[in-house]
Amino acid sequence: PTRIVVVGGVAAGMSCAARARRLDERAEIVVLERGEHVSFAGCGLPYHVGGEIPSAEQLLVQTPASLRAALDLDVRPGHDVVGLDATARVVHVRTAEGGVTLPYDALVLAPGARAVTPPLPGVDSPRVRTLRTVGDARALRDQVTAGAPRAVVLGGGFIGLEAAEQLAQAGLEVALVELASHVLPPLEPELASLVTAELERLGIAVHDGVGATEVEHGPRHDTVVLADGTRLAAELVVLSVGVRPDTAVFEAAGVACERGAIVVDQHGRTNLPGVWAAGDAVVATDTVTGVRRPVPLAGPANRAGRQVADAILRPETARPIPTALGTAIVRVGELAAALTGANRAALAEAGVAHHTVHLHPSQHAGWFPGASPVHLVVHFADDGRLLGAQAVGADGVDKRIDVLATAIRAGLTVGDLIDLDLAYAPPFGSAKDAVNLAGMAASNVLDGRLRLWHAADLDDALGTALVLDVRSRAEFDAGHVAGALNVPHTELRDRLDEVRAAAAGRPVRALCGSGLRSHIAHRVLSQAGFDSASLSGGMLTLRAAL
Ligand code: FAD
Repeated sequence: PTRIVVVGGVAAGMSCAARARRLDERAEIVVLERGEHVSFAGCGLPYHVGGEIPSAEQLLVQTPASLRAALDLDVRPGHDVVGLDATARVVHVRTAEGGVTLPYDALVLAPGARAVTPPLPGVDSPRVRTLRTVGDARALRDQVTAGAPRAVVLGGGFIGLEAAEQLAQAGLEVALVELASHVLPPLEPELASLVTAELERLGIAVHDGVGATEVEHGPRHDTVVLADGTRLAAELVVLSVGVRPDTAVFEAAGVACERGAIVVDQHGRTNLPGVWAAGDAVVATDTVTGVRRPVPLAGPANRAGRQVADAILRPETARPIPTALGTAIVRVGELAAALTGANRAALAEAGVAHHTVHLHPSQHAGWFPGASPVHLVVHFADDGRLLGAQAVGADGVDKRIDVLATAIRAGLTVGDLIDLDLAYAPPFGSAKDAVNLAGMAASNVLDGRLRLWHAADLDDALGTALVLDVRSRAEFDAGHVAGALNVPHTELRDRLDEVRAAAAGRPVRALCGSGLRSHIAHRVLSQAGFDSASLSGGMLTLRAAL
């Protein structure tokens, strides 16, 4: 019988161990976990801090005893792997009782990542905590229940936003600090501004485009000092500025790594015979751009762990571990923000030519009660291939991003999106779903029927073109781009001469509320011989982008 030793007993590691047992009743399967808990719901930690998950016990999905009973796994918490000898096929383990050396036939490295602690003066304050373990969540929860009135969250990524939302909902006065120019840096700025507005609606003070320079310790509270001189007093500080693969022990033992992340092949094999790896600790290849970097997400970690067990025990039928789309979602108050595939910056960096459409369709029939917009951004290539999609909204965001993630994985084009036969009844969707509409708009762009201009082109348009606002007079009067001419789209066919005179030979750049009416206007104008274009996403996107 084979002895499989797994290092790391949470997402990738435990998925691997459980699958290995289901494949092979005779294998000896040992899981070594440095921490106190195995199989805990790391993704649930922020929700315990705020009390939405009242008891930390609810995060402990399995215990060594339950795993022994159900799967006959030998799970050993408090076992820190401190050395690897791949030639002798042994790992060296530190435990409270002393050192142990354990032989293996197959070794699976699933050590995950550690939260990064930036080298800030004063960051060692006991009031400053990362959020990675059940112990971290408990400690933060204790500070909340002890009545800490103020919190600073350093880092506005997914975990930082969840922590900030939870702390605000628990009644703390919260400030969120993000070094990048906007929160959720992977999100396009025109969507991130909606998230910022929601954070502010929750009462969270957002400081973006600025970093912390120091944490000053005080008797009753700490003060986080920002580079712009802002001083934020807080009884607790959550550090969520990113994670780094926890691989030093293994790299030192000869496991090939790139910038600290373990290099694996399609089956999770490392450079060392008999050693596999999966999860946050490994390098993934981006599906769209081909860029290599770790993608620290639970879904890919769980699935890759399972696939590594297949690769070890059923190599002939093992499915390759796929490239990474990085599909992710976060709730912030009443909004969800989600993304899949590449964003504009990643496409630019990889030199991938692309088009972008912005849409704001309702999540279900607009005439059905409760309709709310799904703000959608879709990037696609000249050949129609989908490259990335992002969405923000109160409802229906997860469904659209999951459909689009599936479409990217399947290599579908924007034309294929038109044909997707999605579930529809008024409470759930529309006869033309948001995803179908994205396909239609993008296909119109590719076949030349829709020419877009973008919020980023506004200054240029104001300087060189006639900006034509085709909304109603009332909408125009309520706020418009200075210098724009207002001709409602319903009057355009009768007022073309007026537009021609105002344009005086210049191009016409049409805009409306969301991009729908300006598309109609563009069709009228272009068929009347104008050089015209329609603002992608309309005023909704323009306002969010400025
Ligand atoms: P981990 O789950 O981190 O497990 C690795 C384990 O290995 C750790 O318990 C560690 O103690 C142990 N270990 C490390 N080195 C050794 C060693 N030398 N010896 C013994 N044991 C060792 N992802 C999402 O997709 N969606 C979410 O909503 C989401 N929310 C999150 C919220 C928080 C607060 C955090 C921290 C993460 C969240 N994630 C989320 C990320 C997700 O939890 C990780 O991607 C996933 O857990 C990675 O799995 P893993 O098995 O690679 O590593």
